[in-house]
Amino acid sequence: MVETLRVDYGISDERVLQAFLKVKRHLFVDTMFWDSAYEDSPFPIGSNQTISQPYTVAYMTSIITKHYQTGKILEIGTGSGFQAAILCELGYRVCTVERIDLLYQKAKRIFEQLRLRIALRYGDGTLGWSEMAPFDAIIVTAGAPSVPHSLLEQLNEDGRLIIPVGDTERQRMMIYHRQGDTIYETKTNTFAFVPLIGREGWNK
Ligand code: SAM
Repeated sequence: MVETLRVDYGISDERVLQAFLKVKRHLFVDTMFWDSAYEDSPFPIGSNQTISQPYTVAYMTSIITKHYQTGKILEIGTGSGFQAAILCELGYRVCTVERIDLLYQKAKRIFEQLRLRIALRYGDGTLGWSEMAPFDAIIVTAGAPSVPHSLLEQLNEDGRLIIPVGDTERQRMMIYHRQGDTIYETKTNTFAFVPLIGREGWNK
């Protein structure tokens, strides 16, 4: 998996690659996927959701490591917990929100088993996590129809919101960088995420 990220996708940040070596992806998927857990593909995790493709996780993580050595990160869409575990391994203070109770419970168990100090919350992540704000970076791992304002409001000075925005088929990974009262927007690559469902996302 790490060679694919390095050679095929050009992920060059050694910190990120080392985190992928340390965090065992098979522990975040059902045993029926263990033989293929290190392939570059998403897998079902139940409740019609997926663990993201490793490249996608590495891509989003690299945006964070490029700009922040340390800091507090909010993830929206805990899913399997793998992305949060990678960020935790990198030394960030990680908060993560999941809207599906079953996935929230599963992630809670795996974080406890692996002794990962990750703050996990059940709820609608389109509203952020105001009690824990502000965040140096917010990473959304589900596709949004537009940018949730609550998330922009919970960014620290010099904070970045990394979020796939588009329709339910394809989204453009966007970066919103807050500097004072100004938000700078950068468009990056195209991805295909499951929908971000909530008050400031897609309707149920
Ligand atoms: N980051 C995950 C991982 O490492 O496995 C993959 C995330 S999966 C592609 C998207 C997740 O976002 C799903 O678990 C879904 O339930 C969750 N989600 C969708 N809308 C949400 C919302 N408003 N708040 C919190 N989680 C949400």
